[in-house]
Amino acid sequence: MLGTSGNFSAVVSRKPLRLAITSSSLPKGTLRASDILECDEEGRVVTKVKGTKAKPSAETLLHIEIVKRRGAGAVLHTHSVWSTMLSDAWPSGHGDGSVLAIEGYEMLKGLAGVTSHEHRELIPIVDNDQDMPRLARRVGETLERHPAAHAFLLRRHGLYTWGDTLADAERHIEILEFLFETIGRTQGGPSWR
Ligand SMILES: [Zn+2]
Repeated sequence: MLGTSGNFSAVVSRKPLRLAITSSSLPKGTLRASDILECDEEGRVVTKVKGTKAKPSAETLLHIEIVKRRGAGAVLHTHSVWSTMLSDAWPSGHGDGSVLAIEGYEMLKGLAGVTSHEHRELIPIVDNDQDMPRLARRVGETLERHPAAHAFLLRRHGLYTWGDTLADAERHIEILEFLFETIGRTQGGPSWR
């Protein structure tokens, strides 16, 4: 979590939907309770600690989209070097978009419901966009097109993954970062393009 990159959320309640999410523009290594906000399903702040300057992450709408479409209990978003590099390794605009396929690795078994290294994980790559409602729509469409995906990449931006619990989502981050680095180190270079 370099600089002020990334954001985390966890579902507090489903009906009505309430999400605890990290405030925008803060280094994640020094988060305090007052830096966590509670948002509704439109991304509006419902509860925050009195007097705090905390404001919702710009990407709150993406978290909400994932929680609604996947029934996730937690969503984690990171900007790592390997996820950024791999997100740029496949061109955009190919049919229903570009996809990073990962198969044959034992570590895939760390993803929820995966029981064999032969599993083929398809991680869609979505073009980055500063228009969050538009990007959230595109993310929603992508999740519908890839119902088995445990994650997606935003191009030249970072990784989104999720899980039933915060611990599941954290495990997914570790597993995927391991796989991205392994692929990057073994397949990296001009052959990507
Ligand atoms: Zn981001």
